Amino acid sequence: MKKIDDYIEEARTYAHSQPKLAYENAEMALKLAITYRSKSDQAQAYFFMALACRVMSDYVNGLSSALKGLDLFELISDQLGIMKTRNIIGIIYFYYGDYASALENFTIALNLSEEVNDPNMYSSVVNNIGEVYREAKEYEKALIYYTDALEMTIKYIQDPQLELNAASIYLNIGEIYFLMKNYDRSLEHIHKSHELAIKHNNIILIGETETKLGRAMIQAEKYQLAEKHYQIAQEKYNEIDNKFFKIELLINQAELCEILGKNPLDYLQEALKDAVELQLDSKISLIYKVLSDYYEKTDDYKEALKYYKFFSMKEKEMEASNLSQKLEILSLELEHSKDKKDHRQIREVTRKLRKDVIYINKELEEIKHKNVKLMNDSMLDELTKTYNRRGIHHHYSEFLVRNDGNTSKLVAVYMIDIDYFKAYNDSLGHIQGDVCLKEVAEVLKKIPCKDYFVGRFGGEEFVVIAKIKSLDKAKALAEYMRKRVEALKLEYNLDGEKRCLTISIGAFVVDNHDSEVLQIIDQADQALYEAKEQGRNRVVFYGKEEK
Ligand code: GH3
Ligand code: MG
Ligand code: MG
Repeated sequence: MKKIDDYIEEARTYAHSQPKLAYENAEMALKLAITYRSKSDQAQAYFFMALACRVMSDYVNGLSSALKGLDLFELISDQLGIMKTRNIIGIIYFYYGDYASALENFTIALNLSEEVNDPNMYSSVVNNIGEVYREAKEYEKALIYYTDALEMTIKYIQDPQLELNAASIYLNIGEIYFLMKNYDRSLEHIHKSHELAIKHNNIILIGETETKLGRAMIQAEKYQLAEKHYQIAQEKYNEIDNKFFKIELLINQAELCEILGKNPLDYLQEALKDAVELQLDSKISLIYKVLSDYYEKTDDYKEALKYYKFFSMKEKEMEASNLSQKLEILSLELEHSKDKKDHRQIREVTRKLRKDVIYINKELEEIKHKNVKLMNDSMLDELTKTYNRRGIHHHYSEFLVRNDGNTSKLVAVYMIDIDYFKAYNDSLGHIQGDVCLKEVAEVLKKIPCKDYFVGRFGGEEFVVIAKIKSLDKAKALAEYMRKRVEALKLEYNLDGEKRCLTISIGAFVVDNHDSEVLQIIDQADQALYEAKEQGRNRVVFYGKEEK
């Protein structure tokens, strides 16, 4: 049977690579530790639960576990435990965006690390402090801390883990110099990081450094070199199937495409797909913004507006979820500092935040509502307000599965094409042509059938898909549509002869179970072709016994 130590060891091993598994192991360790009343094991278990949560970006649970662990470590005066827990609490605050609290915790951890003389911990805490200053855009200060961290790792560099730490710190320093526009020094540090990454064959770090080298080459306007670096980074990430780091690369590759006057959309769509899959809200938001900017530049204002809306909604959503997290974290802190003095103040802040959250939640509801409308709009044909191709595909599968007490066994698919529409346009003009399309669509939208929908396939072609009980009903419906359009008496000239507008219909009837929409439409289309061949203004049926 597994012992507490085994569970904790598993949790340690998988904390970064499989955080969910690590969390489960730490939870098991906690249960056992509670049974055996071992305070130090409980504290360790909480620590690893917190670490796993931080990897999964679950700040609230992470902080909750870390604070419980901290209490226990303090109870048994375990300095090392307190130090690493303070560090993780700082990291959680950092990722969550509360830099002041992050710094406070890192500073406590730093003081302790000097006491217990742990160079590894020291350098990692100092590096974290550097990160806080970088995020706060205080680059000079960040540089001081990064350099300090680097010196400590170099001093004890026998340890391969420390050498990898050094590689990450070099990369961090390279980034700071890049942000400070000191490109030479930036490149110098990225190169050092790159060398160490290769020495240890750390794939992710190789990918990251190649990406940054690519970006440096863009800066230097050496686009071919940039492309090469990106290529290598891409191969590396593909090797380990890492989508997380690849997103930044894809965004960079899109940027390069644009510079070279190529189409960046493939890269951006892939990045968007991955970011959505990994639920990385801030990346999703960034990509929406890049897409919007791109469409704006290419004068496609409709798409630009669409993505801009997505972008602003995502931002609002993030703001709202941030606020509710802040509230939860504050109540956690409140709980934790019950017997401390700042009780009243925290409660004050909590009250204020609660008000904010109510407001933001209301906004969020509105955003969701608008989102649904936007989705629907994107599936409608603007002129006729029937479904466009996207809408037809989307609704077709839903339509077949849906069973609202409808006993219809058959599905009829009608392909409808206006006869001699070119002549109609020619004799009355394009604008009248549009009016005519709308009128035909209105007829199709009002047919005597309980369950059906209408789509415009493009041009003067429509599709009607209906659930029906019998073949007779299917035929009656088709005749109804044909006669109603004829009855509109929309007159036009064809080769000097006055005529009224008519339609031809190809119909295909299948059993109401999962059928491939494209195949069915294809069959109906062939029937339509035959209706045209036979002289127009008529209905041709395929499928079932009629075939
Ligand atoms: P047929 O009976 O064989 O279907 O002949 P047709 O003239 O209807 O077919 P054809 O495919 O030759 O012409 C279709 C015409 O539809 C040509 C195009 O100008 C017109 N059309 C396509 N989309 C629109 C639109 O959105 N508005 C208007 N007004 N006309 C359109
Ligand atoms: Mg046509
Ligand atoms: Mg036509």
